[in-house]
Amino acid sequence: MEDVLDRFLRYVKIDTQSEENGLHPSTKKQFDLARLLAEELRGMGASEVFLDEEYCYVYASLPSNLPEGKTAPRVGFLAHMDTSNAVSGAGVNPRVVEFTGEDIDLGGDGKHVLGMKDFPFLKDFIGQELVVADGSTLLGADDKAGVAEIMAMAEYLLTHPEVRHGKLSICFTPDEEVGGGVAKIDLGRFGADFGYTVDGGPLGGMEYENFNAASGFLTVYGRSSHPGSAKGSMKNAILIGMEFQSLLPVFENPMYTEGYEGFFHLCDFHGDVEKATLSYIIRDHDREKFAEKKARFRAAADFLNGKYGAGTCTAELKDSYYNMKEVILPHMEIVEKAKEAMVELGIAPVVAPIRGGTDGAMLSHMGLPCPNLCTGGMNFHGRYEFASVPQMRKIVELLVRIAEKHAEA
Ligand SMILES: [Zn+2]
Repeated sequence: MEDVLDRFLRYVKIDTQSEENGLHPSTKKQFDLARLLAEELRGMGASEVFLDEEYCYVYASLPSNLPEGKTAPRVGFLAHMDTSNAVSGAGVNPRVVEFTGEDIDLGGDGKHVLGMKDFPFLKDFIGQELVVADGSTLLGADDKAGVAEIMAMAEYLLTHPEVRHGKLSICFTPDEEVGGGVAKIDLGRFGADFGYTVDGGPLGGMEYENFNAASGFLTVYGRSSHPGSAKGSMKNAILIGMEFQSLLPVFENPMYTEGYEGFFHLCDFHGDVEKATLSYIIRDHDREKFAEKKARFRAAADFLNGKYGAGTCTAELKDSYYNMKEVILPHMEIVEKAKEAMVELGIAPVVAPIRGGTDGAMLSHMGLPCPNLCTGGMNFHGRYEFASVPQMRKIVELLVRIAEKHAEA
């Protein structure tokens, strides 16, 4: 049995950064890890190992080892192979450090220091071995910790036939970080009745609620004239754009919201007198409040068209993804079994709403209920990312226990 740490160290050294380019997969280098995983799965004796050579998905299954006549639902486990493009993922140089509470100088040059001053939650990790990068790249615990844990779970189950489980499905996906993680997934091949994405944070974390999400795009058409003689004729698109923002609720903004509070986030504003464009993302966990937010967005545009003349602005809204909660609620045993497995292993479950989306949310709405589980990684998408070695080991036990629980009567 290979330690999950050794797997993790091997996988993070492979550059799998994805890119925002609409291609599937977005980068060919993700195949470097996909090929290795397929090979390793074959090597450990997994069944139905399949590497999708076109779209870069890795599928495998573990056969049921239940006694004749006993059945169990088919549980799936998923993790994504790509890493965020916020910081380079090339040449990751991981190192294991025992965290004593003292600062960890990532690069040895004082430029990037991982310490409790900036990251007070680190106090929970005192006495643990942490994997860190060297300050020049991210680590890639998001989501190679999840990948390594699923691989270690598979190897454990294949070498411990006394642990009883139904048929299990495994899938490693590309392009999660650029929103393409499930675009080309073959759920028929995956074959699970429900799944767990292993793509969360510290030990005990589990999520089955996420935002409903839309993008909003406002275009303002102004009218330019000589500023010396503009009275009564000029329409300044920039100012009308600012007025649009002022019509939205001030505190429903990412700067002032947390928990279940939704928001309008102005992410881009470009313009001159003749034309201005404003890009928003709109988020709310509650389906009704989400609909109200979109209605308010349109109403603000309508108001400005009434004030400045028809055609002054156009509002376009496009839904991006929905809260998985409504799909999970009728199948709460998926969440309950994972929670019970945690408690049995001495892990305190922390169930919280995600202020974002997950591949699991999209999978849930594609018909595969799919909550998200912890990985033991923290500070994702940046140089300060790290993974806790004891937590990763515990999460392997957790995945094994979850597989086992779903086969219990
Ligand atoms: Zn992730």
